[in-house]
Amino acid sequence: HADAAMYRAKDSGRSTFHFFTPEMNQRATERLGLERDLRHALDREELRLLFQPQVDLASGRVVGAEALLRWDHPREGLVMPSRFIPVAEETGLIVPIGRWVLEQACRLGHAWAVDAGRSLRISVNLSPRQFRAKGLAREVETILQAHGGGHLCLELELTEGTVMHDPEEAAAILRALKGMGVRLSMDDFGTGYSSLAYLRDFPFDMIKIDRSFVDSLHRGRGGEAIVRAVVGLARSLDLGVIAEGVETEAQKDFLTREGCDEMQGFLFSRPIPAGAFLNLLRTAAT
Ligand code: C2E
Ligand code: MG
Ligand code: MG
Ligand code: MG
Repeated sequence: HADAAMYRAKDSGRSTFHFFTPEMNQRATERLGLERDLRHALDREELRLLFQPQVDLASGRVVGAEALLRWDHPREGLVMPSRFIPVAEETGLIVPIGRWVLEQACRLGHAWAVDAGRSLRISVNLSPRQFRAKGLAREVETILQAHGGGHLCLELELTEGTVMHDPEEAAAILRALKGMGVRLSMDDFGTGYSSLAYLRDFPFDMIKIDRSFVDSLHRGRGGEAIVRAVVGLARSLDLGVIAEGVETEAQKDFLTREGCDEMQGFLFSRPIPAGAFLNLLRTAAT
């Protein structure tokens, strides 16, 4: 292939050849461009948060929202987190970006809770690098001093991969966060490793059943058994359980029957801008 660059892998014992196809080359260039642009995204105010309601299945009330990041790229338009969070994670940009997300989510959440005159939970995703960065607990403390208190309840969503890197260190950070009244949720439950030991050893409050399991309900792929088992596990460990990615009435009915506490998904609402979420809180019979 004329355009293909080739190199011999130095660290490999055998003679392994890797080919860079033009497509791979293009992807690498795109990625470099994204990385360069992401460095300025915060300053240029190109990042914004959407909020996806979390609904209590028994009462139908909106009890909280998950903050989900979006990037309005000047040339590419809307960039989804699956494309830029990995870049942010690898470059370390996730630390300042994540701090901004926390700040913003708590500031808005606090104002909404005051407006609604009742307690409201705001969930923020924490990436592995952000979790391990020095000073996370102090940062959260500072943000909560400014916007916490009252009716705002901050929840942090972590995946199994995040706590598994250094379990002892993770346990210490999680305890510090718990000490400030932060709630801890295990995100994408069931898609990682060693989930059971982590549930026992770490002070999680809630399990989030991954969308892939909800999606497999009523498709004859054993999704029912998995969801039932996870709800049972949460029950016996005295943890709350929320299902993500609920799209159909049939899924909602199944989750309700099985005793799932909450749901989040397109069936109820897509992630929406801050103003729309406040309207929802005001108008819904909540
Ligand atoms: P996640 O934390 O598991 O978030 C749930 C994802 O599922 C969101 O995708 C949400 O829009 C989507 N979703 C919710 N309900 C439905 C549904 O009914 N159907 C379908 N098809 N999808 C649904 P999104 O917003 O693209 O975020 C993807 C991932 O990016 C998140 O997964 C999270 O891991 C990460 N992410 C998003 N915002 C942040 C952030 O501020 N910080 C960090 N570190 N990661 C973030
Ligand atoms: Mg999440
Ligand atoms: Mg999730
Ligand atoms: Mg997920």
